[in-house]
Amino acid sequence: MASASSDAKLSKRYNAEEIERKWLERWDDALYRFKEEDVAAGKPPYIIDTPPPYPTGDFHIGNALNWCYIDFIARYKRMRGYAVLFPQGWDCHGLPTEVKVEETHGISKRAVSKQEFRRLCSELTRKNIAAMKEMMIRLGFSIDWSREFVTMHDDYKKYTQRSFLRMFRSGEIYRAEHPVNWCPRCETAIAFAEVEYEERSASLNYIRFKIVQSGEEAEKDERVAAESPEYVEIATTRPELLASCVAVAVHPEDERYKHLIGSTLEVPIFHQKVKVFADSAVDPSFGTGVVMICTFGDRQDVRWWKAHRLPLRASIDERGRMTHIAGKYAGMNVEECKKKIIEDLKKQGLLVKQERIKQSVGVCWRCKTPIEIISAKQWFVRVHKEKVKEAARKIKWHPEHFRLRLENWVDSMEWDWCISRQRIFGVPIPVWYCKRCGAVKLPSEDELPVDPTTQKPSSRCEECGSDEFIPEEDVLDTWMDSSLSALWVAGWNYEGDFKPVQLRPQGHDIIRTWAFYTILRCLSLTGKIPWEMILINGMVLGEDGFKMSKSRNNIISPEEVVAKHGADAFRQWAALGGAVGSDVQFRWKDVVAAERFLQKLWSILRFSLIHLADYKPLPVEEVNLKAIDRWLLAKLSALVASVTEDMEKFKFDDALKRIKAFAWGTLADDYIEIAKSRLYGDSKSGEEGRNAARFALFETMKTLSLLLAPFMPFFAEEMHERLLRSKGLDARSVHAERWPEAKTPVEISEEDVREGEIIAEIVRSVRRLKAKRGIPLNKPLRKIEIFCEFPIDVEDIENATATPVEVKRGESLESIEEKMNKEGESHENTAEIVVGDAVRAFVYF
Ligand SMILES: [Zn+2]
Ligand SMILES: [Zn+2]
Repeated sequence: MASASSDAKLSKRYNAEEIERKWLERWDDALYRFKEEDVAAGKPPYIIDTPPPYPTGDFHIGNALNWCYIDFIARYKRMRGYAVLFPQGWDCHGLPTEVKVEETHGISKRAVSKQEFRRLCSELTRKNIAAMKEMMIRLGFSIDWSREFVTMHDDYKKYTQRSFLRMFRSGEIYRAEHPVNWCPRCETAIAFAEVEYEERSASLNYIRFKIVQSGEEAEKDERVAAESPEYVEIATTRPELLASCVAVAVHPEDERYKHLIGSTLEVPIFHQKVKVFADSAVDPSFGTGVVMICTFGDRQDVRWWKAHRLPLRASIDERGRMTHIAGKYAGMNVEECKKKIIEDLKKQGLLVKQERIKQSVGVCWRCKTPIEIISAKQWFVRVHKEKVKEAARKIKWHPEHFRLRLENWVDSMEWDWCISRQRIFGVPIPVWYCKRCGAVKLPSEDELPVDPTTQKPSSRCEECGSDEFIPEEDVLDTWMDSSLSALWVAGWNYEGDFKPVQLRPQGHDIIRTWAFYTILRCLSLTGKIPWEMILINGMVLGEDGFKMSKSRNNIISPEEVVAKHGADAFRQWAALGGAVGSDVQFRWKDVVAAERFLQKLWSILRFSLIHLADYKPLPVEEVNLKAIDRWLLAKLSALVASVTEDMEKFKFDDALKRIKAFAWGTLADDYIEIAKSRLYGDSKSGEEGRNAARFALFETMKTLSLLLAPFMPFFAEEMHERLLRSKGLDARSVHAERWPEAKTPVEISEEDVREGEIIAEIVRSVRRLKAKRGIPLNKPLRKIEIFCEFPIDVEDIENATATPVEVKRGESLESIEEKMNKEGESHENTAEIVVGDAVRAFVYF
């Protein structure tokens, strides 16, 4: 490593691609490894419950933003002395992969065996993981890859199935016949969180129902009513559900229909008799104010069905076809049936009118098919609403307001979490049913993972002794895998105490799923909250300010950005884009500005290295720091204090803005311009002055490399390497260094800082004046007079302005003006500089 790199001339242009590639090759994987020994030795752990992304093959810009935040935190905490665990998992199972496999291979999942279909899904998943991983590495994330987990692997499947057995035994998981949200296209039950709502236009049909017995006549002979048929109109968008109609409801205060309460109606076409009841949930302003209740048209039907203990008449099956209950319409799909029934209603004169309306329709998140509510035997996880909300309040939310989103979601849930999926690529539900007595048969935990469809139980039925079983064919909702991530990364193995991990970073779009399920499951399994803190990130918007989408053609990929400007520039965009939690707009000009900042830093580094080439850090006692050196070191220490505070509060934008302002303004524009002559060794103070400047410059550059490390890991490493390692001063990577302390190497008084500020301000002003008058910056002026009641070091001012300086004391401003007038100075060849209340300077051109 003792290469010539330290003294070799740096190229003028910073080549991000080359430098970043170099460090990707050189960095040792062990740099980011989490070691249990460190925790045992007293290092505080900082465990991150990293999101396991769905392996779509595309690590998109939204992912990249979130991972940048995670990496800023991980690198910062590591430097602060924490034993950081930044693991990475992959949440493999689920519908999108199945759909993709069907598309890619042009097959339906029924066309091949389950094993073969799973194999194809795994193959695609492996390929996609590899592609995404490559991007994560390229972006410089400090992931501990030795802790990678893949939910489709046996060890994780075992973990998921074990949680199922534990929760089944404790009664938190149960099987029951209950209405569930169902996608007829995907042919599976789905959870509430998987139902999306879309505005669609529909036809509202006004249909006549025959009153066969009015409320008052209920006790009388039915024949009386039959002689003089009367009708009531009911408006519905779903006439195909007539066969499922089990009751009719009106609002109790609705004067138009009070007489109907308690009466019996006959459903058109299917002729079943249904009762009319009153319920205040009926909206009298919708349609005619009379509603038919079907099993099931929507969630309200389910509520009424439960509350009024209504019978179940299921007319739609799992594939979206009409059942035998629908009589002559059986076998038709929902749309065909709807058309047919409307035709028949027209023929019988029972359709009064039709209106177009807009309505919100629940659709499948994956394929946008309208969902049905179907009653089926499914597996459920018990949702304890109050416990979840109470747990959420024990977790620190950043930003705080997102906790409400979770609470609102919990309140809106109508029934327990349905976890069984009628799919193939998922963790099998580890259950058999006894063929003789129907009892549930579970495997032992040692046997896991099991696939009941290919394996048999190792013992007989505990209830009846039979050895014949029917396998459970369903698999688990993929959130059953990912909701265990906190427990998995913490290394909790279903035994002993679980300690909440330190951080869960995630997007606000999955609060109602990942955050909610994780809290619920962690409470059920351990009685604890999963994490101490949850950090919510926003979404990335396109350059046009809209959500990125294919149809808008405004998608930007991290690949594209990194290929043009490098990972460090991308990461700066992520840091500066906005506060964590807010949506961040992508703008190319921000990335270009980021690249410009890297170039500026590179120029500063290049300049510094020339002057620090033969510099060996001196003990501070041997250095005679000048005012501006002390001023710089004091500013640096204040910068460290503020940036540290920002990092603690996840204010990455503020932190990086401060660093930029310091490097660009304080260091480059002010300090270097002022101390340049001393650095070149051609100032009055000679070697002593030079060493003081070199001391301050070296301390500052070293500290800057540390502050930049979380944001620009590649550049910071290069900087650190060139400043220290290549000189044999320090053998460690910048990412193994400690975060700097907000402390100056020597005591610096307020007076020191004030003096430095005056020097800087005078130099700035003189440079401004020269520029305004078109005078070259290095051209000497006649003189500068400074009126000041305390001592000021003039050497640096003289150097930086190329002008002699006189300090005057004990003269009033009036006397100065008088003197100037006497000497015949005109306003054209003098200028006044005001620095605060106490200092004036006059420049003589
Ligand atoms: Zn679907
Ligand atoms: Zn049995």
